[in-house]
Amino acid sequence: MAQELQEHWSLTTSRGKAFQPSLSIDARVGTGSTSATTGLLQYEVDTPLFELVGMVGEKKAVRSYHLCLEAIYGIEQLVHDLGDLCDFERKQSLYLASCRGDVESLQREYSVRTRNGIRLELLGREALWECFELDYPAALLSFDAGQIDAYRLTHTLLRAASNSGLEIYDQTEITDHRSGKESVELVTKEQHRIKARKIVFANGYEIPAGLGKDIVRLKSTYAVVSTPCESLPEKVTRCLMWETARPYFYMRTTQDNRVLIGGEDDDFDNAKRRDSRVVRKSRKLVKRFEKMFPEIDLNVAYSWAGTFGETKDGLAYIGETEKYPDCYFALGYGGNGITYSFIAAQMIRDLCIGRPNPNIEIFAFDR
Ligand SMILES: Cc1cc2nc3c(=O)[nH]c(=O)nc-3n(C[C@H](O)[C@H](O)[C@H](O)COP(=O)(O)OP(=O)(O)OC[C@H]3O[C@@H](n4cnc5c(N)ncnc54)[C@H](O)[C@@H]3O)c2cc1C
Repeated sequence: MAQELQEHWSLTTSRGKAFQPSLSIDARVGTGSTSATTGLLQYEVDTPLFELVGMVGEKKAVRSYHLCLEAIYGIEQLVHDLGDLCDFERKQSLYLASCRGDVESLQREYSVRTRNGIRLELLGREALWECFELDYPAALLSFDAGQIDAYRLTHTLLRAASNSGLEIYDQTEITDHRSGKESVELVTKEQHRIKARKIVFANGYEIPAGLGKDIVRLKSTYAVVSTPCESLPEKVTRCLMWETARPYFYMRTTQDNRVLIGGEDDDFDNAKRRDSRVVRKSRKLVKRFEKMFPEIDLNVAYSWAGTFGETKDGLAYIGETEKYPDCYFALGYGGNGITYSFIAAQMIRDLCIGRPNPNIEIFAFDR
């Protein structure tokens, strides 16, 4: 049985403003949803590929899956180049059918992905038991996945960039923006003005006024991390795990033998209401884990809540919109915000230097 929670946090997304009363948009670097993330790196976006094909067409859907897959290895290369792995590890990913009724959709998913060159195995009940001692009707085993400490990656990137001349001003809230003929002006809460030729908005779940709130539905999500376990069997550490049920339960382990569990999403983003549920939600998450692996005792170290956003097709919004001339957006909404951020960085670099990028349409605001 899990011990009583020793501590629980409500980590901000900045919308939450719940970490400390004074900490909101003018927070320190990396304390948005990046500090709440569970750090799973998956190419599977929130919408299964066979459904995404129906929404955006086969070409764009397949391309978006391939982009996210390439992003995992791109992030691996990046942390090697930075000289700090930021706990990056390659992993496999196990997508469990939550009930028998979901097996058919797993089969469809298996065929569309393998037909498009993605390495995958479809495990039936017996194989799943043999490999993982898990009692589920079926699962997809993906060979391309990873995990990372995204907060550390953020600081490692910023350190490297500031060594190359980047100036960082945290605790500085931008309250207004004006587009001029040849430049854009940002205004801070203290009425300082910043002029630039181009601006990149990478402001998490704070939706810039004018973009339209309908591009994303904000939700609350919950997570728990255990204290380090003495040892964890390979069947637990080998894969990131998640399931077909929505909202889904997901988990991974860490290099120091902790179990990190997330899910139990709520359809609202009211910070006060969300935060009042953290203890109850984390108990539920631990119970789910213990049902899967009854022989493993978890002691909870921390539990927390955060905001995340869902889009109509599970894809991020990246690029330009005519409502904001000379501005670029990196809005990695959805469960894959980290891989989306990597894709956004490449796309926005190309837009800035005028290099054609074939992926613009996939993540466009007017799609
Ligand atoms: C509990 C949880 C688990 C998650 N798990 C995963 C996962 O396993 N894998 C995955 O890929 N993704 C996951 N995500 C999503 C992922 O964490 C986010 O998509 C990602 O961290 C977003 O990074 P970001 O830099 O775009 O936004 P943020 O980290 O939110 O940073 C945005 C920053 O902009 C600042 N800001 C906003 N508005 C203003 C303003 N007006 N003026 C000045 N500053 C401003 C904020 O203060 C903040 O610091 C998870 C999210 C949550 C909440």
